[in-house]
Amino acid sequence: MPAQPIVGLHHVTAIASDPQANLDFYTQGLGLRFVKRTVNFDDPGTYHFYFGDDAGSPGTILTFFPWPRASRGTAGAGEVTHTAFSIPAASLAYWEQRLVDLHIPFTRSPRRFDEEVLTLADPDGMKIELVAHSKAATAHPPRFSDVPAEHAVRGFFGVTMLQLDATETAATLAFMGFQQIAAEGNRLRFASPADSSALGNHIDILVDPQANFGRSGAGSVHHIAFRAANDESHLEWRTTITEHLPATEVLDREYFHSIYFREPGGVLFELATDNPGFAIDEPLESLGERLCLPPWFESRRPELEQRLAPITLHKITSAATTSSAPETAIADRVPPPSASSPTSMKDNASDPHANGELYRAGAPLDQATAAVILLHGRGGAARDILTLSRALAPANSPIAFLAPQAANSAWYPQSFLADRETNQPFLDSALARVHSIVDLILAAGIPLGRIVLAGFSQGACLATEFIATHPARYAGLIAWTGGLIGPPDSNLTHSGDLAGTPALFASSDPDAWVPWPRVEESAKIFTAMGAQVTLRRYPDKPHSVSGEEIELGRKLIEKALTSTK
Ligand code: ZN
Repeated sequence: MPAQPIVGLHHVTAIASDPQANLDFYTQGLGLRFVKRTVNFDDPGTYHFYFGDDAGSPGTILTFFPWPRASRGTAGAGEVTHTAFSIPAASLAYWEQRLVDLHIPFTRSPRRFDEEVLTLADPDGMKIELVAHSKAATAHPPRFSDVPAEHAVRGFFGVTMLQLDATETAATLAFMGFQQIAAEGNRLRFASPADSSALGNHIDILVDPQANFGRSGAGSVHHIAFRAANDESHLEWRTTITEHLPATEVLDREYFHSIYFREPGGVLFELATDNPGFAIDEPLESLGERLCLPPWFESRRPELEQRLAPITLHKITSAATTSSAPETAIADRVPPPSASSPTSMKDNASDPHANGELYRAGAPLDQATAAVILLHGRGGAARDILTLSRALAPANSPIAFLAPQAANSAWYPQSFLADRETNQPFLDSALARVHSIVDLILAAGIPLGRIVLAGFSQGACLATEFIATHPARYAGLIAWTGGLIGPPDSNLTHSGDLAGTPALFASSDPDAWVPWPRVEESAKIFTAMGAQVTLRRYPDKPHSVSGEEIELGRKLIEKALTSTK
C-alpha cells in the first residue's frame, strides 16, 4: 500500500436539473460558498457547479452537473443514496430552526452511532444529511452566507451507499486503506484509521438484499472522489488500484487530477489530488463570480456563454448577517387566488402561471401599509429575488414583499423582442398573474399608490409592460435590465396617465438579452406618460442586479413610500 494514505472524501458529484434552483439551495439554504462556476469538461454546453467552504477545501466540495431537462433519478442499490455534512453538536437546534424558517422539510432520525442526523432533500430530491457530532472540524465559514460562523457546515461527514451485499465493496474499501469501525442494524461503517477526524472519512454501506437498483437522473450522486495528498501518491495509488480493478488514466480536471474506477457494487469512485485547488484561475475573494473555462475551451467562450442559461449569484454580505431579523427571511407563502380548484388546474395549458406559488417576506399583508411585487428573471426563482427584500427595506418596516414563481422558471419562452404571439399564452398568463397579485394587495386595503412593481430581466419587462398597460399612479416601477415588450420597430406607445409614478430603468450595455436602445425607448415612453423617470446605463455590467442598482431601488421605495399616502 502506498505510503501516503487516502484520507476521506475529496468531493461528491451529483446531477441536478434547474441551475438557479440548485445554486440558491446550496448557497442560501445550506450556506455553502459557490466556489466555482465552470462547464462540464466532457459536455461544455452545460454547467459544472462547485460548492464548498470559504476556500473550497478538499473534503467540503459538493459539485453538480445541472442539466435543465434532466428527469429525476430513482435512488437504489449500487448508488450513493445519502450525502452527509458535518455540523457541531451545539448547532443542531440552529439548523432545525433554519430549515423550518426556510420551509425545507426534514426529518430527525433516532440517534445513529454517536450522532444526531437531520435528513432533507434538495430541489431535485437528492438526500442530504446534516450530522451533528462533537468532533466537527473547525470552520472556514463562507464569506457570503447568513449562517453564523459557529453554525456553518464544516464539510463532509461522509456518504451512505446502498448495496445488495457489502462483501466486494468492503474489499475495495479495504485495499484503499479503509476499515470497518462500526455496525448498527444493516449499516456498516468504514473509515480510514490514518486520520479519524478527517472530513468525509465515514463511508457507510446499508445492506439490503431486496433493494431495487437505482436509476441515475437529477438528484442522483454521479460519483464520489477520495483524496490523494499529491501527484506522486496519486500515481502510486493508481498502481495499487489497477491490481484489483480497471481504472482510467490520470485526467486533468483543472482544479485537481483524477482517476476513476467503478467498485464492484456499482458506485463510481474517483481519486482526486488536493493540488492545484480552486484559486488556480481566479482570486479567492471572488471565487464563483464569473464563468471559468479551462484553457482548451477559452476560445469557445462566446459560444458557450450563449448556450448556458444565465444565473444570478446573490452574495449575502456580513452586514445582512448581523442586521437581518429571522422574520425578514423567506416567510409564508399564500395560496394563489385560484389554487386547488379543479377547473383552474385543467386550465393550466391556457393559463400556465395561474397556479404558481406566491412567496412572501416582510410585513404580513394584513399589517402592511405598502407592498412590493418582485418578479424574477428567466431561469430565476421567486425565493431568490425575494431575498432582495432585506436590502430594499429596513427590517420591521410595514412593507409586504410578494414574489410569484413562474411555471418552469420563465414568464414566457421567447425573447421579449419576439413576435408577441410566439410568447402566448405565457405572456398573457404572466400579466394576469401580476394582476391577481395586485388585486390581492388591493383587497388588503393597500391602494395602487402604495404598490411598487419591481423585476429583473424578464421580470423587469413584465413589470414595465404591466404598468404601461394598466396605467395609474403607482408607488413606483423598478426595472432592473428590462423594457416594454414587443418586436423592434413596432409601436410600443401606450395611452394613459402615469403622472407622479417614479420609474427606475437601470441596465447594462451591452446586455445579451436586453438591448440598451429598448431600455431608452421604454424610459421615453414612460416619461411621455407622465412618469418621473430615472435612467441609468452601466457599461459592461454582468447580467445581474448590482449593489448600486439595489441601492437605487431602495431609495425609490423609501422616497415613494414616505411621500405618498
Ligand atoms: Zn469528480
